[in-house]
Amino acid sequence: KLRKEETMRRRLHNTIQELKGNIRVFCRVRPLLSEEKNASASLPINFPECDDNNEIELAQSSENALGKTTSKVFPFKFDRVFAPQSSQDVVFEEVSQLIQSALDGYPVCIFAYGQTGSGKTHTMQGPDTITSATNEADLGIIPRAVKQIYENTSNLSERGWEYTLEGQFLEIYNETLQDLLAPSSRNTQGSEKQAKLDIYQDNEGHTRVKNITAIKVDSAERVNWLLARAAENRTVAATNCNERSSRSHSVFTLYLCGKNSLTGESSTGVLNLIDLAGSERLSSSGSSGDRLKETQAINKSLACLGDVIAALAKGNRHVPYRNSKLTHLLQESLGAGNSKTLMFVCVNPNSTSAQESLCSLQFATKVNSCQIGTARRQAAS
Ligand code: ADP
Ligand code: MG
Repeated sequence: KLRKEETMRRRLHNTIQELKGNIRVFCRVRPLLSEEKNASASLPINFPECDDNNEIELAQSSENALGKTTSKVFPFKFDRVFAPQSSQDVVFEEVSQLIQSALDGYPVCIFAYGQTGSGKTHTMQGPDTITSATNEADLGIIPRAVKQIYENTSNLSERGWEYTLEGQFLEIYNETLQDLLAPSSRNTQGSEKQAKLDIYQDNEGHTRVKNITAIKVDSAERVNWLLARAAENRTVAATNCNERSSRSHSVFTLYLCGKNSLTGESSTGVLNLIDLAGSERLSSSGSSGDRLKETQAINKSLACLGDVIAALAKGNRHVPYRNSKLTHLLQESLGAGNSKTLMFVCVNPNSTSAQESLCSLQFATKVNSCQIGTARRQAAS
């Protein structure tokens, strides 16, 4: 009887999730920072239907050849739009169902896409450094997800479920993988270089990374320790931490293995939480050497991610995972028939960023509209 109930509970939950679609796009507009407040008299963002919460308009003014300023309005529609005043709490409420799916054995990916300074790290993690003194209200998706998982696993244990959670955290920079959880001594310049990280398929066909540090996450507090170590490793590895993080993807992965001692069932879920490299269009014309290589790597991998999601949404047979390290790494979580993907497109509200915001919204529309298949409102021109 217990087994039946448990199966029913999972099935119901996940049917509801499926009805919502396996690929979803949320848009989040960050508030103006205090130092930006006076500078931007007219903001380019409108939320036409506030109760609906899924539309957004971007106005862009430009000067024509005659020196006259004209303005165009570009409307967009997503699965959900979060206005600047939306709290971390409100955002997480919309995400928590997906975290539950990972616990139920589904592969889940949550991405933050957007230009540097648009609120990706705020959304995924919260403040750059999290300590016990951090205000809980500021926490982003990673710490909240882990907390939720702990609360749920203790409930599930009453129904016979035992879970082991293992976390890994890596960075993809210039198409090269870096282990952010390696003991930090290994990341300093010196003799002990990181062992080479390679993506491979294990015996059961799961995509794994060779030589990566996997850490048992045995308490919700452990995740703060883990985030701190990752932050430390990033600082050691870069001369300019912010610059570096804006030019690399960071991928936090949690493997959730559950066994039910009463029913004999087992489940393996994966939760990937990804803070993408800044999407600002980087022109390769002005750059050379390392900078050019870096620029090309970012442009390529973001375009690749868009192609993969679009191919999945269209149901294409061929999905070009192997074109970038990021999509190759996430192949299993992004492709499987039961996988769930959510992309946050993060938007900076400043008029000076209107052009970049437009590009981000158009990228997200490409990812989003493919799935629906019918005409959604496109950017007007
Ligand atoms: P990104 O990771 O995209 O470069 P950040 O997350 O670092 O951007 O955000 C840039 C700045 O804006 C940071 O100072 C961050 O604290 C602030 N910020 C971003 N989103 C919000 C928000 N929703 N509420 C308040 N401050 C935010
Ligand atoms: Mg960031």
